[in-house]
Amino acid sequence: MYIYSCPHSVSAVLKLALEALHTIDQEADALCGLSDAIWDNPELCYQETVSSALQRSFLEERGFHVDSPAFGIPTAFTATFGSGNPKIGILGEFDALSCMSQVADVAEERPLEEGASGHGCGHNLLGTAAVGAALAVKRYLEETGESGTVVYFGCPAEENGSGKAFMAREGAFSDLDCALTWHPGSLNKIYSDSSLANVMTLYHFKGKSAHAAAAPECGRSALDAVELMNIGVNFLREHVVQEARMHYAITNAVCPPMWSRRKPMSCIWCGFQTWSNSASYRSG
Ligand SMILES: [Zn+2]
Repeated sequence: MYIYSCPHSVSAVLKLALEALHTIDQEADALCGLSDAIWDNPELCYQETVSSALQRSFLEERGFHVDSPAFGIPTAFTATFGSGNPKIGILGEFDALSCMSQVADVAEERPLEEGASGHGCGHNLLGTAAVGAALAVKRYLEETGESGTVVYFGCPAEENGSGKAFMAREGAFSDLDCALTWHPGSLNKIYSDSSLANVMTLYHFKGKSAHAAAAPECGRSALDAVELMNIGVNFLREHVVQEARMHYAITNAVCPPMWSRRKPMSCIWCGFQTWSNSASYRSG
């Protein structure tokens, strides 16, 4: 592990920090433009082609070396400046949420296009501000001439699709000395805890067709199977550790009842859990 020993006095560090903030102020208009452009092109997980390209060209124009695509994901990329250690990763996201279309600068629900995607939790800001932070670290490295590398990670699919998990599996973060990210929220605070693990499973149920009035005994309903499973899992809630969360969605339930639900049906179950804490609950 790299141990960083700062060669500067406290007042010098404060001065450098103010200069870094000044760098962000100087880029404020460009950063706001980048955020607005991503807001105007809301793209769902792994489809963030415009948003990823906007960030890549922004960083390339400002002297970062861009590698794209990265880690086997078409919309993932890295933008690097500097050399040597410490190697600092700054993680940014840019994916949108489905059915969250919203007119900008309006504090009430007003879809720009009914049912379309939108940036419900501020990933247009999230990735852009992380880009701003990477610019500030670049400025610091340029000003001081110190050894160090800043890597901005364009991270797809934060909302749905576990983009960073696949990036980590490819070793994206393994040689970093630290990784930083942020998320818009109602409080301005430092969050250094871990979050719940996420396991998502897609179940398919198949029925057997029969006329619902003339020969109902010959049919087998996929929908009934989905309902039975959901009831069972809902009873299971009483017996899981308190960190466990279970959610589901029925993704294709449209089928006339007279067909006895022959059509295959899908049901997604998501389980979330903090394994480290649950172990201590069991032993305690
Ligand atoms: Zn979010």
